[in-house]
Amino acid sequence: MNLVLLGSWDDDERDAWAAALQAELPGHRLWWPGQAPLDPATVAAAIVANPPPGSLQGWPGLRLIQSLWAGVDRLLGDATVPADVPVARMVDPAMNRAMAETALWAVLSLHRHTFRYARQQHLHRWHVWPQRRADEVAVLVLGQGQMGHAVAQRLHEQGYRVSAWRRTPSVPAATRAAVGPAPWPVHSGPVALRVALARAELLVNLLPLTPETRGLLDARCFCAMPRGAAVVNLARGAHVVDADLLAALDSGAIGHAVLDVFSTEPLPPEHRYWSHPQVTVLPHAAAQTDLRSAARLAARNLHALAAGQPLQHLVDRQRGY
Ligand code: NDP
Repeated sequence: MNLVLLGSWDDDERDAWAAALQAELPGHRLWWPGQAPLDPATVAAAIVANPPPGSLQGWPGLRLIQSLWAGVDRLLGDATVPADVPVARMVDPAMNRAMAETALWAVLSLHRHTFRYARQQHLHRWHVWPQRRADEVAVLVLGQGQMGHAVAQRLHEQGYRVSAWRRTPSVPAATRAAVGPAPWPVHSGPVALRVALARAELLVNLLPLTPETRGLLDARCFCAMPRGAAVVNLARGAHVVDADLLAALDSGAIGHAVLDVFSTEPLPPEHRYWSHPQVTVLPHAAAQTDLRSAARLAARNLHALAAGQPLQHLVDRQRGY
């Protein structure tokens, strides 16, 4: 098969991906812009990582768009991506584990006042905050997909009082068979969200960015939570209404925010988040794509395409994730 590699990356990053993918795809030709022209009609699949808008047009033989990234909101936001070509996203257990580690670090740090103690050290201030047991701390995880489930599982194992929220009330039979029923309560629907928020001292967001979830973390959400609750956003910056979060932090409605993702990345140097004493900024590093495993997993789908076998991790274009 002829395959195109399209991304928003520098030459070194593209070359690293090309080498890793080519090693997993012997016998297939990998092409990227800048190489000697090839007949667009001969290209069967595109392997993409935030491809430049419009770059997926003009490949009449395309049968699969394989994303190297887990989140596909930018890809689906490009109206020129052909509507009739299936899109598959990256699902990598190594990334799920990395996300669970980041969430555990953030929750432990909030629960055990690590961010407060760091500020106190800066001020040479000695003050002991009460120490609570993990099972006294209520954590709400938004999203029960690949990442959200791994995070809830890790926090549950650590003893936290976990609950979760998802879109659909019923767990697909295949998921139940694979992982069993979740031992923590899982809610769905807007009413259940309000109830769950009222009990949540810590909120961990792992929703995909869709028209339904954009701006979900707004003033109404922050007001619904107990005063001084914490927000951990590891999903997408546009889930948060930044002005509402800053107002909630300033008023004390929200006690602390750990933010890995932002509406504009890199976060502009003048942004208030950088210097806000109750904000911890990470540079979109919660779960980085592991080139080795991701290349292998992407190649698996391309081998399936070549063999006419079912494709894995297809995105539902209607739902947006
Ligand atoms: P999945 O598609 O596996 O899971 C999405 C979950 O969100 C599902 O449980 C789904 O519900 C739920 N959901 C979707 N829409 C709604 C809604 N309107 N209301 C309530 N629940 C909803 O995604 P992943 O777990 O793999 O990834 C989640 C996100 O994490 C990615 O989209 C990406 O944005 C982000 N991410 C961040 C990274 C980082 O480094 N910061 C790295 C990788 C990903 P249901 O189960 O009912 O379908």
